[in-house]
Amino acid sequence: MTHSIPHNVLLDLPPFPPQRTGELADRVAALLGTKNDVLLVQGEAIIALEAAATSLARPGLKALNIVTSPYGAWFGLWLERGGSEVTNLAAENALPITFAAVEAAFEKQDFDLVALVHAESASGILNPLPEIAALARSKGALVVTDCVASVGGHPVEVHRLGIDIAVIGPQKALAGSAGLSMLSVSPAAWAQIEKPGAKEISTLSLLDLKRNWLEKGRGALPGMPSSLELHALDAALTRVEAEGLANVIARHETAARASRAALKALGLRELTPPETASNLATAIVLPEGISVPDALAAIGPNGRAISASVGAAANRVLRFQHTGRLAGFEPVVANIAALAGALNRLGHKADPGAAVNAILEVYNKASAA
Ligand SMILES: *Cc1c(COP(=O)(O)O)cnc(C)c1O
Repeated sequence: MTHSIPHNVLLDLPPFPPQRTGELADRVAALLGTKNDVLLVQGEAIIALEAAATSLARPGLKALNIVTSPYGAWFGLWLERGGSEVTNLAAENALPITFAAVEAAFEKQDFDLVALVHAESASGILNPLPEIAALARSKGALVVTDCVASVGGHPVEVHRLGIDIAVIGPQKALAGSAGLSMLSVSPAAWAQIEKPGAKEISTLSLLDLKRNWLEKGRGALPGMPSSLELHALDAALTRVEAEGLANVIARHETAARASRAALKALGLRELTPPETASNLATAIVLPEGISVPDALAAIGPNGRAISASVGAAANRVLRFQHTGRLAGFEPVVANIAALAGALNRLGHKADPGAAVNAILEVYNKASAA
């Protein structure tokens, strides 16, 4: 599929009104259910994550870093780079971390900070954030979450759960552009960030953003604000607000259930048990004898939600995404049809009619509810 985008849409954009930049942050705060400060970081979400870790890290800070993907592993490295004492706690492949493992880590020692990814877009797992956040808070530890994939697909309740830093991006379930990311910062997180030894005069410094943007009336972003990205964030938020966040989340839930019912009808197995899976993606194990490259070649461009997976079992696993605009009846049907056709061509008997029926059943039930 090739898109041709008229240049006049992309070039010579009017500047984003500086006085509306703070309003964007307020709208993000509303999505996250928080009155904490919200910062806008010019860069994709991985940059906001690195900025959070870099700004929090200090020699002697004891961090429990939960690892369920490379994102978590990198977060631990950035904390360590700042001198922190990092205990990495890795989950089993394709599974979320268990609450029991986190409890056991706290029985061995105290931590000042707990970091975790809420939902993983690659493996499709959902970590038990509410339970972990409650435990961390009861122990006086800061809670730092990567909610880049989960926001819009699952509730991200910053105030209710007491999340100190939540990093999000518009490019996953919110179906926006990837070039601007956001994070909420609690007073307790600011206290850690402002301790002696803070990173300053750095694009990774949250303290710089506080001084040069928050404390200066939240006008134009420091440096060169990207009108393209600010207008795109405005548009993504407007579309989410028009649909209603609860409806966006429900749409992801339905798409996830329909996709899983259809995959089951095709005789495929999920890598992750449904009770630990996110609403964003489903990791599927290919039938014996079908390789990932052969499957992808047979699926072709009409199965654009289907891609290779990552992690230990990646040579046997496909990722079926139902995130953002892919979380809807038509994309789910189209991608399941492409997959069913490919499986049959590769010698695995799969019944597309049964899969479409399974999808219809889930969607009919959802619209009757
Ligand atoms: C996508 C994603 C990111 C980072 O997004 P980039 O667009 O690569 O910056 C971080 N964490 C999680 C869990 C993600 O799914």
